[in-house]
Order: sequence, then C-alpha cells, then structure tokens
Amino acid sequence: MTDMSAILDDIASAMAQETGRGRVADYIPELGKVDPGHFGIAVVSADGSMASAGDAALPFSIQSVSKVFTLALALGQQGDKCWTRVGREPSGDPFNSIVQLEADDGIPRNPLINAGAIVVSDILLAERSVDEAVEAILGFVRRAAGDEGIGVDAAVASSERDTGFRNRALAHFMRAAGNLHHDPEETLAVYFRQCAIAMSCEQLARAGRMFAFAGHTAPGSAELITPARARRVNSLMLTCGHYDGSGEFAFEVGLPGKSGVGGGILAVAPGKASIAVWSPGLNAVGNSKLGTMALEMLARETGWSVFGGL
Ligand code: GLU
Repeated sequence: MTDMSAILDDIASAMAQETGRGRVADYIPELGKVDPGHFGIAVVSADGSMASAGDAALPFSIQSVSKVFTLALALGQQGDKCWTRVGREPSGDPFNSIVQLEADDGIPRNPLINAGAIVVSDILLAERSVDEAVEAILGFVRRAAGDEGIGVDAAVASSERDTGFRNRALAHFMRAAGNLHHDPEETLAVYFRQCAIAMSCEQLARAGRMFAFAGHTAPGSAELITPARARRVNSLMLTCGHYDGSGEFAFEVGLPGKSGVGGGILAVAPGKASIAVWSPGLNAVGNSKLGTMALEMLARETGWSVFGGL
C-alpha cells in the first residue's frame, strides 16, 4: 500500500502546482462559495486497504455522483422495468439539456443526465414519501460506505431548490409526457436533496466499492448489489458518466467514472480499485478539471484501464 500512498502523494503535489484550476460552479449559489484550492484523492484497493492524499477527508457536495447510487437502488427495486422510462445511450449534450427530451417523447437518453436522474428519483418515490425516499437513498449510501455519518447539506439543497428552474422545466416536461408519476415538486425535492449529499473522497471511494468489486463492499462480504448490476452501472458510467465529455474521459482515463458539478469524480477500476477525487474547479463541460488530470496520472502510473495496454 505504500506504493499507492506514494503515487497519490505525487499526484497531490503535482496538482498543488497547477494554476489553471477551472471554474467553480456558481449556478447553484451555495456551490460558488467553495474554495477552488482544494484537492483530495482516495483509493480503496481490492484487499480493502485505503490510501489517500490532500483534502481526502473533507466533505464536499457529491451532486451528480449521487446518480449512480440512486440508479443502483432503483434497479434493485424495479429491475429492468426502469428501462421503459429511461434509455441507455450517451446524450452528447450538456448535463441539463432539454432539446432531446422533446424529440424523444419525454424519455431521457440515460440515467446519468439530469432528466434521467429525475426519472430515477421518481421511481424511488413509488410508495414512499419524499422524506422516506431520501432516507432510503441515504441508507443505501451509508451502507455502501460503511459510514452512518453521511448526510445531506441542507444549505446546498435549499440553494438548489431556490434556483433549479431548468430542472423544473425538465421535470414538468416529463410529467406532461407521462414519464413522471408524482408531483414534479415532490420528485425534485428528492432529486435536489440527493444531489446535496456531502461526502469526503474517503467516504465516496468506500461507497464505490460495490461497483469496483462486483457488488461487494469488502473482501468476503455479502453482495450489496448483484455483480450483473455493478457491471451495468459501470458500463453506463463509461459511456455517459461525464456528460458530453464522456468520450474524452474514456479516451484519456479509460475507466468508468461519474462526475458532479461539486468537482467530485468517482472512478472504478473493475476488480482493482474504487477511486474518488475532488477539486471544485470545472472544465468547459462541467467536469472537475484537476480531478480529470489526477485520474489520467493515476491511470498512467498504475496501468489501470478497461481497454488494456498501458
Ligand atoms: N444538482 C445538479 C443539477 O441538477 C447536478 C448537476 C451535476 O452535478 O452535473 O444541476
């Protein structure tokens, strides 16, 4: 493990030298207050050991990284029925794009763009109140991370509720098309709170173990999700996890990953590691600038890639 710690220390020092750190998202005002100087990285390896560097213990807003956990939970509850309401194709459009929805009759291209994740929140609301749905999501993430301390940042959730007009447009359009089954405000109340979950890189890397290790959170533990489900979520992360930057991320990093506008990225080296990285400044397509650079370095150093080679 010392090797991994040394690699992560090198990456953190290289990132500390970077002056072009990208732009912190401020369309959710509360996110705009975060210091762009942060950088953290954490890796959980197949033997269960954790290595980390930088601000890896500091909680941040996981935002769209939450979409992989809600998807895994919804698939566990409703199985393949979910795919009648959301597709599995990359969108090639920004995360909050509205244009495709009309052409596609209110069926979002995939569950990792906003429209698709809002449908998944609606699925999780079935036979639950808003509070119960949020508790179900939090319970799942806490179990995955083995950490009961994970919660929702109330200030971020209300900041997003107060300004989430574009997400409201997506939700109301889908309701009109018959693809939301609840009051759009209730569905969005779940969605805004799931996006406002706060986690550190260390907690996020632990929560991602089920995707990296075929459904298991620790060597020899019971499955949290089935291996087939872990594989499917990984395939969606690879093709759709970075919005219209997904092709570039696959090309440069070569691992399934999901980004969020809080600057976090969860990346998965199947069978090898669950990786979380955080730096709040974003690139032009809304993915963490230094987070992506750090993952490129890590993939180069370790040789981890789902495509083979070095
Ligand atoms: N809560 C954010 C939104 O809906 C999530 C976007 C993201 O992280 O990419 O705008």
